Amino acid sequence: MRIDLSNKVIVITGGAGDLGSAMALQFARAGACVAINYHRNEKVAKNLLSRISEFSERCCIVYADVTNNDDVYAMYKIVMKKYGRVDVLINNAGRNNDGYTTLMSEKQWSSVITTNLTGTFLCSRVFSKAMIRDKRGKIINIASLKGQLGSEGQANYAASKAGIIGFSKSLAKELGPEGVSVNVVCPGYIKTNLNSGSIKKREIAENMSAMSVEYSKKDFENFMLFLASDMIKGVSGQVYNIDSRIM
Ligand code: NDP
Repeated sequence: MRIDLSNKVIVITGGAGDLGSAMALQFARAGACVAINYHRNEKVAKNLLSRISEFSERCCIVYADVTNNDDVYAMYKIVMKKYGRVDVLINNAGRNNDGYTTLMSEKQWSSVITTNLTGTFLCSRVFSKAMIRDKRGKIINIASLKGQLGSEGQANYAASKAGIIGFSKSLAKELGPEGVSVNVVCPGYIKTNLNSGSIKKREIAENMSAMSVEYSKKDFENFMLFLASDMIKGVSGQVYNIDSRIM
C-alpha cells in the first residue's frame, strides 16, 4: 500500500541526523514538502537535499539550534514564508553525553536536558501556533525506551526522554480541543551516530528482543510514514514503542 503525503508540510528537527534523514527521504518520496532542520552539519544537510532533489523539488533545509529560541523562531518564520503552514512537526533532534550520575557534571546533565527536552518544548511552542490557527496538525516527539526503563550511565538522557513523555501527554491535553494531536514514538535500537560507541548497549538490546528477525530502520520509517499520514487522525497522547523488546 502506498501512503500519500503530497498534501503535507512536515518539519523534522535534527533532520540531517541518521533517523532524521531516513524520515526525510521517506516523507519526500511520499510527496511531502519536508523542511529539514540541521544544526552543525550543513554539508550533510545539503547532500541530503541534493539526493531528494533527484525526485522532488518540494523540500528545503533550514538551520536552527533547537536550544536557542531565536533560532527556533527564525526557522518557524522561514517555514511559514515558504509553505504557509505546517501539518506535522517531528521533534527528533537529540543528543547524549553519558556518564554515571555520581560523576556527572551539571554541564553534562543540562546539555542533554536542554537539547532533548527544552528543544522539544521550544519547537512545539512556536509551531503549534500555526496548527492552532488551522485547527489541525500533528506533533510527534521522539523519545526512547530508556525514558521508560532507565539506563545506567545515561540518567540525563533517560530523564530527558521521560520528560518528553510527560510533556507530550500534557500538550496533548492542551491542544486536543484545537484539533492538534501530540504523540510520542520510541524507536527500537538502531545503530546511528548517537549510539555508535556503545557496543554493550546494542548487545543488551539484541538480547532483550522477542524476535529472531532483526529490527531495522525501515520498521521505524514505515511507522512514522503511517503516523504522519491521514490514516491516523483521532489518536493523541500516546506513546508508541516501535520495538521488539517487551516491557
Ligand atoms: P543522530 O545523532 O544521527 O541524530 C541526532 C540529530 O540531532 C543530529 O542531526 C544532530 O545534529 C541533531 N541535534 C543535536 N543537537 C541539536 C540542536 N541543539 N539543534 C538542532 N539539532 C540538534 O542520532 P539518531 O538519528 O539516532 O537520533 C534521532 C532521535 O532518535 C534522537 O532524539 C534520539 O534520542 C532518538 N532515538 C534514537 C535511537 C537509536 O537507537 N538510534 C533509539 C531511541 C531514540 P548535530 O550533530 O549537527 O548537532
